[in-house]
Amino acid sequence: MKEITAYTLGYHDMFSARYGKLENLTVLQIGNMALAIEAPYHIIRSLFKMKDLKSKSSVTKIDALLVTHIDADHISGIDLLIWSKVFEENSKLLLITHPEVAEQIWHRIRTAFEISRIDMKTKLELKDYVDLVELKLGETVEIPQFGIEVETFHRSTHHAPFLSIAFRLLVDRTPILGYSGDTSFDQELIDFLAKNGDHPIIHEAGSYKKDSKAHTNIEELLTLPIEIQKRLYLNHIPFVLEEKILQRIKEASSPIHIANALNKITI
Ligand SMILES: [Zn+2]
Ligand SMILES: [Zn+2]
Repeated sequence: MKEITAYTLGYHDMFSARYGKLENLTVLQIGNMALAIEAPYHIIRSLFKMKDLKSKSSVTKIDALLVTHIDADHISGIDLLIWSKVFEENSKLLLITHPEVAEQIWHRIRTAFEISRIDMKTKLELKDYVDLVELKLGETVEIPQFGIEVETFHRSTHHAPFLSIAFRLLVDRTPILGYSGDTSFDQELIDFLAKNGDHPIIHEAGSYKKDSKAHTNIEELLTLPIEIQKRLYLNHIPFVLEEKILQRIKEASSPIHIANALNKITI
């Protein structure tokens, strides 16, 4: 089995940035390449600091980026990442996402990227900056060169009026990691993330209250069976709630982890 090591370089929500806390960023070392999940504003700096991360990309240290949706805490680092690829590595970003999310990313960055900054006149498109691996809802897609597959949940998560994906990573059809992305509590999604194995699941816990239409509250996750709870690693945590979340986990004698426990761990 291929050796894959997970690094958690950020596990807070975007409002936690004012306290100096870093937004969700998981990086997987897969062989001698690095795959980042989400591109928060700190992605370039956080990866630059990782001296032991192996990557074929000399400057950015990212060989592929998987993005779940276009909220700022998930893509605000993508401009600098693409520019670094263009000007410092003379290459394109390998972007793994649903084509609809890719289109929305282009819609957000288009004004700055549409005219070439090399000759100041050529009209460019997203495909001039990225090689896109297209994820499809309910289907499994192989990531070229990485030897892993991405199985995407069959519908958008309950999070926003636009598409937001959740996925599982697999090696030889065996799941190695589930990732909820941003979502309200969704039993069908949890069943999908957890099925066929005992792999870890990174799940968001970003809601300040129960029954949110956009995020999940810790109380909802504490209703899950213990065998699921022990596989959960929480991210998207509001810093102002972190102590309370830890306290509730302790009070409930729950085996739920915080995502920073999934750091330098071989999965
Ligand atoms: Zn979001
Ligand atoms: Zn988010």
